[in-house]
Amino acid sequence: MTTIRHFIGGADAGETTRTLPVYNPATGEAHREVAAASTAEVEQAIAVAKAALPAWRASSLIKRADVFFRLRQILAERTDELAAIVTSEHGKVLSDAAGEVSRGIENVEFAAGLVHLLKGERAEQVSRGVDVHSVKQPVGVVAAITPFNFPVMVPLWMIASAIACGNTVVLKPSEKDPSAAIWLAKAFQEAGLPDGVLNVVNGDKEAVDALLESPDIAAVSFVGSTPIAQSIYQRASAAGKRVQALGGAKNHMVVMPDADIDGAAAAAVSAAYGSAGERCMAVSVLVAVGDIADDLVEGIRSRIADLRIGDGTDPASEMGPLITREHRDRVESYVTGAAAEGATVVVDGTQKAFEGDGFFTGVSLLDNVRPGMKVYEDEIFGPVLAVVRVDSYAEAVELVNAHTFGNGTAIFTRDGGTARQYEFDVEVGMVGINVPIPVPVGAFSFGGWKKSLFGDSHIYGPESIHFYTRSKVVTTRWPDHTPAQVDLGFPSNH
Ligand code: NAD
Repeated sequence: MTTIRHFIGGADAGETTRTLPVYNPATGEAHREVAAASTAEVEQAIAVAKAALPAWRASSLIKRADVFFRLRQILAERTDELAAIVTSEHGKVLSDAAGEVSRGIENVEFAAGLVHLLKGERAEQVSRGVDVHSVKQPVGVVAAITPFNFPVMVPLWMIASAIACGNTVVLKPSEKDPSAAIWLAKAFQEAGLPDGVLNVVNGDKEAVDALLESPDIAAVSFVGSTPIAQSIYQRASAAGKRVQALGGAKNHMVVMPDADIDGAAAAAVSAAYGSAGERCMAVSVLVAVGDIADDLVEGIRSRIADLRIGDGTDPASEMGPLITREHRDRVESYVTGAAAEGATVVVDGTQKAFEGDGFFTGVSLLDNVRPGMKVYEDEIFGPVLAVVRVDSYAEAVELVNAHTFGNGTAIFTRDGGTARQYEFDVEVGMVGINVPIPVPVGAFSFGGWKKSLFGDSHIYGPESIHFYTRSKVVTTRWPDHTPAQVDLGFPSNH
């Protein structure tokens, strides 16, 4: 059996005294194992990253940018190879895995513009003969801790900008699908990144604890579930580290009576069941406004009847399995409990039969869901869509704003005024107008509100440059051959 180890200082590393199983979710087989880093191994990776920092910090911006141009080429040319790795451990269908790679490439393209991104500001003659300018300098060694659901894209959300800004990195990917991170680190190396700038340690809580406890980690980027995000935020900030911790979601898609109902139904199916609902921007609640609810529910029901669910490597499959057996059982428990909570089970995916031991479930559609029900309040993170019926736009907004999560949302309408009002009213970080999964393009930043993000910095894009740099402001006067004067007063610029 293959053991996935760590990648430290540009080479495979790590003891295998403690290992964790890595499953192929389509077969249920533990086909690989991953080494779980000990505290000492994480400390070693941090020491290597710290040692690599002075030279990387001092490297020219053009040389750094070159790495990203080459990396972009490697990712584009070898997308299929990387997608296959993702599918073998995550289970998502190959086209979806390739889509994730292409969205990650956006972060690499953004980072390639680092010469422009790292420009400071300058003001001439703030006082007679005095100029002021600012520069952006790296924060130091950065920890990147990532979830299972995007094993390529989410690491790239963090490491592309962190490295571009002159930091060095220790990445701790999800232990459920760790191979893609090792592949990425080797691709960076091939693209010319010096050894030690990007290190990968595999493992679980022990590895994360070691990162949080190290005084040599200056900043922490985390993406994962809300309870862990909240605890990482509290621990890292209490230790004086810079931290951004993105958490879970319950994304509402509001459909107004004037919307294109057919188009909205198709969009809801794609956004709710794509990647088996294991996307932080998946639509998990559909808010039907007015008397369109029956048509909308029927439009969704008729479309999901024939969805092809199967092994992600089969080009005919539209949806793959869930990540683990335990997660599949947890998702199914929400569906089996929904009727007792008062919801109408329109389609019960738990009844669908699958051959073999893969972690498959069918897609489920629940109607007449209301606040207070577990299927409404909790992030299920599976192929389950809950429909809430409301009478008005005002009720819809109230519902969305009352939810504890605020990651993404969408409104489907033909009325520009309603769309504009929704953008103004809604307390959610990312909004789609007739766009169901509004993941911002790489030149903007990504982040939710409320329990979907802890910290004040969104991830990737312009906010990441701010997060991964410290600004320094320099005030300069050069001798101008006028006689020097002593003045004990507070310096004034007038
Ligand atoms: P998770 O919270 O279980 O794990 C995330 C990371 O934290 C992993 O690297 C894991 O090893 C580590 N971890 C887990 N338990 C830990 C603990 N007790 N102490 C320290 N570290 C721990 O999340 P997951 O199941 O891998 O991913 C799914 C979750 O991620 C969902 O909630 C989803 O909404 C969220 N997510 C959010 C975004 C976003 O941008 N907001 C993006 C992707 C995924």
